Amino acid sequence: MSARLVLLGPPGAGKGTQALRLAERIGIPAISTGDIFRANIKDGTDLGRQVQEFTSAGALVPDELTDALVRDRLLHDDARDGFLLDGYPRNAAQVAALDAAMAQAGTQLDAAIELTADTDVVVERLLNRAAIEGRADDTEPVIRHRLEVYRAQTAPIANLYAERGLLVRVDGIGEIDEVTERMLTALAEQIG
Ligand code: AMP
Repeated sequence: MSARLVLLGPPGAGKGTQALRLAERIGIPAISTGDIFRANIKDGTDLGRQVQEFTSAGALVPDELTDALVRDRLLHDDARDGFLLDGYPRNAAQVAALDAAMAQAGTQLDAAIELTADTDVVVERLLNRAAIEGRADDTEPVIRHRLEVYRAQTAPIANLYAERGLLVRVDGIGEIDEVTERMLTALAEQIG
């Protein structure tokens, strides 16, 4: 199966883990804007310097930077026949930017998968991850801010995709394998 997909869901819903597993099963690259930003910060690139103040505060990186990054990444050979975007788009303007980039390439999205999880569960998961991975943006005040940004800007875009008949909602709570299977089943129902 090849597919052009986006993965939505609150921070801590398990998007990163599930994106890698799902992409591998389908045979498409998983493209995480958060991972790309973190790698650039770690390597001290220009982009890393530009985005650090936003990521460390749990704020969205400006759309111009993020949209350009994704547009370029989607032109790589490995993404020609399909991809899974993890953590992009995150607001309505990014939805429009992605539409434009895909229209230019003569392609369109096949589905938007929303991984759902309760706020209490995600806060607990993120605090645990902070203890294990030491991610700079997993402190409690920043976690709260990231969840607020999600609620205000990202959650509403699920409706935009629902209106187009592209939204697939999957319960993100459960064993990792079980959630991956749920996603594959729901996706197969959506796109065959
Ligand atoms: P994530 O790993 O997806 O939780 O992303 C970590 C951080 O990277 C976010 O809190 C934002 O600061 C930034 N980021 C990732 N994706 C985007 C995006 N699509 N738009 C703006 N900022 C983003």
